[in-house]
Amino acid sequence: MSRIIGFILVLLLVPAAGSAQVLTATLLGTGTPPPDIERFGAAVLVETPEGDKLLFDAGRGTMLRLKQLKVSSAQLDRVFITHLHFDHLVGLDDVWLVARLWQRKAPLMVLGPSGTEIFVENLKQAYIRDREVRSEQSGLSLETGDLRGMDIAESGVVYTRGDLKVTAFWVDHGHVKPALGYRVDYGPRSVVISGDTTYSENLIRHARGADVVIHEVAIASEKLLARNPRLGKVMASHTTPQQLGKVLGEIQPKLGLLTHILNYGVTEEHLMDAVRENYSGEVQLGEDLLAVDIGESVSVYRRR
Ligand SMILES: [Zn+2]
Ligand SMILES: [Zn+2]
Repeated sequence: MSRIIGFILVLLLVPAAGSAQVLTATLLGTGTPPPDIERFGAAVLVETPEGDKLLFDAGRGTMLRLKQLKVSSAQLDRVFITHLHFDHLVGLDDVWLVARLWQRKAPLMVLGPSGTEIFVENLKQAYIRDREVRSEQSGLSLETGDLRGMDIAESGVVYTRGDLKVTAFWVDHGHVKPALGYRVDYGPRSVVISGDTTYSENLIRHARGADVVIHEVAIASEKLLARNPRLGKVMASHTTPQQLGKVLGEIQPKLGLLTHILNYGVTEEHLMDAVRENYSGEVQLGEDLLAVDIGESVSVYRRR
């Protein structure tokens, strides 16, 4: 009898091919340019059980959110930037300089659309006094824990390590060109990060079959739109809840997760109702430090 139980236990413990592969995506910041103490700037951390740590965008407070997760920025394998709007970048210096403080030796690579390399060079120059003084004190060269920028000129695979693969693709962020979204595949698991975009056919194409889609959203009340015509222009380069419902309907992910929540004057309930006008699948409003484990099934939990 015990032998039978033992056999059953072994069967339960031996995972099917790929089932042990769990991809974890954590929303570090779900906010937008205006400062918000509840929603820090855009950033998503993607991790694997093998210790891979990829950061997508580095908005306001990214380092603080990493600290809350007990993740050292010295551990980051790569940083990917979606576009060069400051709300996606303003935390990058903090992430990098703290990694140096923690004796990161290898360069921290930052990949993003054209302009990323020059942005990184200028950032390094801006902190030259700090870096020189610290190098003199520690005896470490200026290149130790260096920051390196690389422009992504073409869409396609931009990073691989084992079963982990990152694909960059173009999205439509109005006058902000180029702007990128990213898809992360880890064996059979996958997550898509939209970056800032309005309704994008190209995003839909690249997101097909993805388990989880982390997508931006923007909404403004009729009253505010009528009062402020500039707001309408801002909205045109983002995704309305109704458009987002259509996007998710085309992709049919296991979960849609809303981030970069640009909300002018409506309740969260109203926002989610508007998404559900066009989509009846699983969809959730993101919040800082909300995480999703993508394995055989998809589970959402808070990490704070
Ligand atoms: Zn933007
Ligand atoms: Zn933005």
